[in-house]
Amino acid sequence: MNKEFEFVIGLEVHLQVKTESKMFCRCAADYFGQKPNSRVCPVCLGLPGALPVPNALAVKKCLSLCLATNCQINKISKFDRKNYFYPDLPKGYQISQYDLPLGENGFLEFDVDSDSRRVRIRRIHLEEDTGKSMHTNEETLLDFNKSGIPLIEIVTEPDFVDIEEVLAFAKRLRQTVRFLGISNADMEKGQMRYELNMSLRKVGSQKLPQYKVEVKNIGSISVLEKVIKYEFERQADILASGKLPTQETRGLRDLSGKTYSQRIKEDADDYRYFPEPDIPPMHFSDEYLEEIKSTICELPQARKHRYVFDYKLEPDTAEVLITSKVRSDWFEEAIEKIKDTALIKEIAKWLIKDVNAIIKEQKLKLSELKFTPKQFSQLVEMLYQKKLSGTLAKQVLAEMNSTGDEPEAIVNRKGLSIMADETELIKVIKTVFKDNANVVGDTKKNPNAAKFLLGQVMKATKGKADPAESARLIADLLSKE
Ligand SMILES: [Zn+2]
Repeated sequence: MNKEFEFVIGLEVHLQVKTESKMFCRCAADYFGQKPNSRVCPVCLGLPGALPVPNALAVKKCLSLCLATNCQINKISKFDRKNYFYPDLPKGYQISQYDLPLGENGFLEFDVDSDSRRVRIRRIHLEEDTGKSMHTNEETLLDFNKSGIPLIEIVTEPDFVDIEEVLAFAKRLRQTVRFLGISNADMEKGQMRYELNMSLRKVGSQKLPQYKVEVKNIGSISVLEKVIKYEFERQADILASGKLPTQETRGLRDLSGKTYSQRIKEDADDYRYFPEPDIPPMHFSDEYLEEIKSTICELPQARKHRYVFDYKLEPDTAEVLITSKVRSDWFEEAIEKIKDTALIKEIAKWLIKDVNAIIKEQKLKLSELKFTPKQFSQLVEMLYQKKLSGTLAKQVLAEMNSTGDEPEAIVNRKGLSIMADETELIKVIKTVFKDNANVVGDTKKNPNAAKFLLGQVMKATKGKADPAESARLIADLLSKE
């Protein structure tokens, strides 16, 4: 990247709220994959005379996001008409919020390489989604199933200092809305979309640039990253040639992140906002807001930090555990009442590596595993107390997932417990030495030879030997050779 310039970036995030019905009518909101125009009524089609009635659950969920992102709540809030015409918005206006959004002046905290960062949120408001146009060679088809789906818009301040911040913010925000149950934020279904506002200035300049480029409808975090990189190069080239990039809206050509000019903007858009006359203003009492606050769960950022400070987990490990609330809750259940942080670390390690491997291989969800978090932690505890080796623990885990039996029962049934008898282990090692006499001779020159012998001991005992103990005995016996 060109070192002469730095970017100024603000994000607008659109988020579909998870509700049964649409924002202002009773049409079902499960529109994805349904027959076009099968989820419509006079309200969401915008027919004359139809009366919108706000969805109380959507308002509540939006308020919970405002509170979770430290926004000030406008206790008197209202809906406004944003006037513009577009084929997928035939009524000529979108019901949105203008000067009294539900929340303002908040912030979201997240980490970049274990370093805590904060980006300010200018506003969060609620609006309705539009319909969808589908273009063929000859005609444009319109589907209004998406029209009227509740949509939250989150607008940040232009605080981002580097691309890592933008991406980490986008991820943490997505996790946060999932933890709160506000939205599934399934990007492939278009439930979360980003709009990038970006311009460049000379490094060190404090002034906001004289232009701004908007890129709309970015459907994934990886594409967002590509768009930022592409726009940086494009705008830097124009600035380096002494010109100013055009103030415009740009569209995405494809998933490569390349953009093209869609609409030149001479002035700010004039949407002629005015209060929606069909919906009275909303009033929120302190009691109501307190009630919502009490339902907010511990959020991903706070959880991650608790894992790092209380359980001494590595930040990267903690980050993986909070990827989803289901996983994080599963982990919490597994470590319930365990105080020993070394054991907690071991449980986290086995969850991320070995349980995940089972889930991936068998295409399961965590909730579909045959064993419970408690049974899982019992298994790791046996390993931790050296009653099992890693190899044996893996066998037991696989058996737990096919039978749902207690780990201890499986160990007893299959006679899998680790060899506790040192004399017996020494016997095995001596046999291995005899069978691999040439390798034993090699150990003085080649340190890997001892590792090979350890492997043979593990193999001969079918994983029942304790690796650390065996390594110690092997070294001991080799010194006497
Ligand atoms: Zn409807």
